[in-house]
Parts: sequence; C-alpha cells; structure tokens
Amino acid sequence: TSIGPINRSLRSEQTHPLTFRLREDGAPVWLAEYHSKGGYAAAKKALLQMSADEIVEQVKDSGLKGRGGAGFPTGVKWSLMPKDESINIRYLLCNADEMEPNTWKDRLLMEQLPHQLIEGMLISAKALKAFRGYIFLRGEYVDAAANLNQAIGEAKAAGWLGKNIQGSGFDFELFVHTGAGRYICGEETALINSLEGRRANPRSKPPFPAAVGVWGKPTCVNNVETLSNVPAIIVGGVNWYKSLARQGSEDMGTKLMGFSGKVKSPGIWEVPFGITARELFEDYAGGMQDGFSLKCWQPGGAGTGFLLPEHLDARMTSAAIGAVGTRMGTGLAMAVDNRINMVSLLRNMEAFFARESCGWCTPCRDGLPWSLKILTALEQGKGQPGDIETLLQLVKNLGPGLTFCAHAPGAIEPLDSAINYFRDEFESGIAKTPVPAATRIKEMEA
Ligand code: NAD
Repeated sequence: TSIGPINRSLRSEQTHPLTFRLREDGAPVWLAEYHSKGGYAAAKKALLQMSADEIVEQVKDSGLKGRGGAGFPTGVKWSLMPKDESINIRYLLCNADEMEPNTWKDRLLMEQLPHQLIEGMLISAKALKAFRGYIFLRGEYVDAAANLNQAIGEAKAAGWLGKNIQGSGFDFELFVHTGAGRYICGEETALINSLEGRRANPRSKPPFPAAVGVWGKPTCVNNVETLSNVPAIIVGGVNWYKSLARQGSEDMGTKLMGFSGKVKSPGIWEVPFGITARELFEDYAGGMQDGFSLKCWQPGGAGTGFLLPEHLDARMTSAAIGAVGTRMGTGLAMAVDNRINMVSLLRNMEAFFARESCGWCTPCRDGLPWSLKILTALEQGKGQPGDIETLLQLVKNLGPGLTFCAHAPGAIEPLDSAINYFRDEFESGIAKTPVPAATRIKEMEA
C-alpha cells in the first residue's frame, strides 16, 4: 500500500494526527511501537480523567463528521444514544465494510495502524457506555483481519481491552466480524442485520440504531477513519483539532483523500480540510500522465457525481463540493481521462450497482438492471430513440427519498451528471435504424 509522494519525514503529530505513526516500510505498527509513539495516552486520559459526557462534548465541539461518505456530525450521533442509565447493553459497531469502488483509506488505517482504531473504539465505547464492540470488516480484507486480531490480542494482554481496563472500572470487549462481500453491508442497518446473521437488507429508519440497533439494543455505527480520529481529538483538544483545517473550511481537522486514474502519482494522503481539488490533483497526484488529459472526475467514490476540470478549484469539503453539484463522498477522487467513453464507464458502474442491490425495494431492484440494459445497448450502438429520456426518468424515480436506502440514489448520481455533461456520447449510441418496439422488448428480455 502506497501513502503517496509526500515526504514522510514532513509528517508530524501536530499536522498529521491520523498518519504520523505510519512506518517507512509500510509494516503494521504493533503495540510496543504504538506506545513509543504516544499511543494509548488518549485512552488513559479518557478512561481515568474524563466522564462519558465530557468525551461526547469534546468530540461534538471538535466538529468531527463521519468519514464513511455521508458526513453526519459524530458528536451529534453519539448524543442520540439513550440517556436512560438502566439500559446497560449498548454496542459500538465499526463500519469497516469499505467497498466503495476506488476507496481504500480504511484498509490502510486497519492494516498499518490497528491500535489507533482500537484506541479510538475504546474511547468512543466509554463515551457511548458500550460494553462490546464489533469491527464489521469487508471479507476480502484478509490482511486487515489478521492485523486487527493480532492487535486485539496484544491490547487484551496489556490490559487495554477486557475487564476493569487500566484500573478505570470500565469493561470493553472487541471482536472482528468479517462480512461475506456485499456492498450493501456498508449501509449501517444492513450491516446490523448481517451481524445478527440475517440477510443484509437495510432496515427502515427511524428508528435509528441509537434507539433500536443490533439485537434490538442501542447501537452506534461509526466508520474506521472517524473512530481513528478520536484519540487525537482527546489528546490535542478541540481548538488544535479545528486549527488543522484551513481558514474558511466548514469541515474540521484532516482527512484521508486521494486521486486515482491516469494521474502521475496515484495515492492517499492526509490533508487539511479546505484544500482544493486542484491541489490534490496537481500537487499531490502530479496531474495527468503524459498523453492523457482530464475529461472529468469524481470526488469520492462511484456513488458521487462527475465534475468537470473547471470544478477543480472547489474545496474538498461537503459544502463546497455540494455547491458544484454533488457530494464529497469518501474524498478519494478518480480522474477520468480523455480516452474513456462515458457510456462504457457508466455501463461498468451500473453493472456493479445493479449486482449489489439487495433487491428489497422495487425501484432499485428493477430500475438499476433497466439502466444497465439501456447502457449496454447504447455502448453497442443499438440504442433506440427515447433511451436517454428513459435513463433520465430512472434518474428521477430512483432519487433520494424514493427508495428504501441510499444505494439507488448513489448509483444514479453519476449517470445523471454523465448525461448532463456528455449527452453527445450517449446520443451517439442510438442506432441509425430504429428497431420496432416489440422486437426491442424481446431483445432486452433475452
Ligand atoms: P445517511 O445520510 O442516511 O446516514 C449517515 C449517518 O447519519 C448514519 O449513521 C445515520 O444513522 C445518521 N443519520 C442521518 N440522519 C439522521 C437522523 N435524522 N437522526 C439520527 N441519525 C441520523 O447515509 P448512509 O446511507 O449511511 O450513507 C450513504 C453514504 O455512504 C454515501 O454518501 C456514500 O458516499 C457512502 N458510502 C461509502 C462506502 C464506503 O465504502 N466507505 C460505501 C458505500 C457508500
């Protein structure tokens, strides 16, 4: 795994709280080294000197937002856990089902800094009064599973997990649970169903997991990168954490962001919030490889919309990317080069999204394969008049609020923007000689 072209020696605890402990050789940082680099100091402070409410307040004040893609304020989510002290079975789930195409930031954190995640979960568990935690891990991440399990073993042996942790009176058990490779397991309520041994269909919200979560108990689900930020916030404090972001950024702290595609130096870097996409693209990723030019780009995963080169001056924050028409998503951007045909790219993406639909709600189950059939026909030059209008109807009918979860709206967002910016490429897939409707339906059914 590459951490990109940044000079590693320039990273410091003060400026790169998430990645400063990474080793030069990319090997995992085990307990002794983690301790020597200040690890578990935050847990000690949180367990021995802070109340649960103080931890929640500090995280709330820091402005930390969820790093899985949706950006919901973490402290607000935490404060929604029930206040009733008699409810003593509560769970903390780490969403490590990182399956967003193009996104591998959590993998890096789990493979190389497993103790940072464990420490973040321990502090968060105290804040949430959770007695047990599960890391719901993407099944294909076998190295992350091995490293997390080894680190959990080390943490237990050193008294950082288990009963009466470091004499604080707080108990917390932590387990790794590997998934079976479905994208929908990353949706928090599908994740909960899967953890319970059920089929991974999303549940309706409300009730949110804070009220009715895993095995019906209050549950908080946070992403790996979100939880990995918590130790630094506890040790460094709110003002320092906020100051990591550039002036004028409404998102706080740092974020793992990246660029892939035909750029000179694809990679992931810890950058301050407020950085522009152009800085990420030109200064970190080195711009396009010789012989390629930037046609468009996606800011954060296949479920985010396409933007044009002129949008590179937008800051990589939720609000700034929202203002130019899409979502920041996971912040791992992808460059689409001039040699890529948008119809083929979208056919590939919708094949993925159609396959990964859980099939529970009709618009998603039937709409995504329909879009795939039309895109396949357009790619083969067999499209029919009206196909683009049908795709746009699907975009409308699979949008936010019309389906059971965010899967179909995410799947359809890149299609919407691709048609908007590159309609001519879709039009050129329409056959010169239209096929009679009845024959077409038969062809599509086949
Ligand atoms: P969401 O906006 O519905 O929810 C985000 C979080 O906020 C959830 O934990 C939810 O419970 C909480 N929340 C939202 N509204 C709330 C309310 N009113 N009260 C209490 N809690 C509330 O989004 P989502 O469906 O969880 O996630 C969609 C995002 O996931 C997309 O933006 C996509 O980019 C991202 N995604 C990431 C990956 C990955 O591998 N990292 C994979 C797929 C999708």
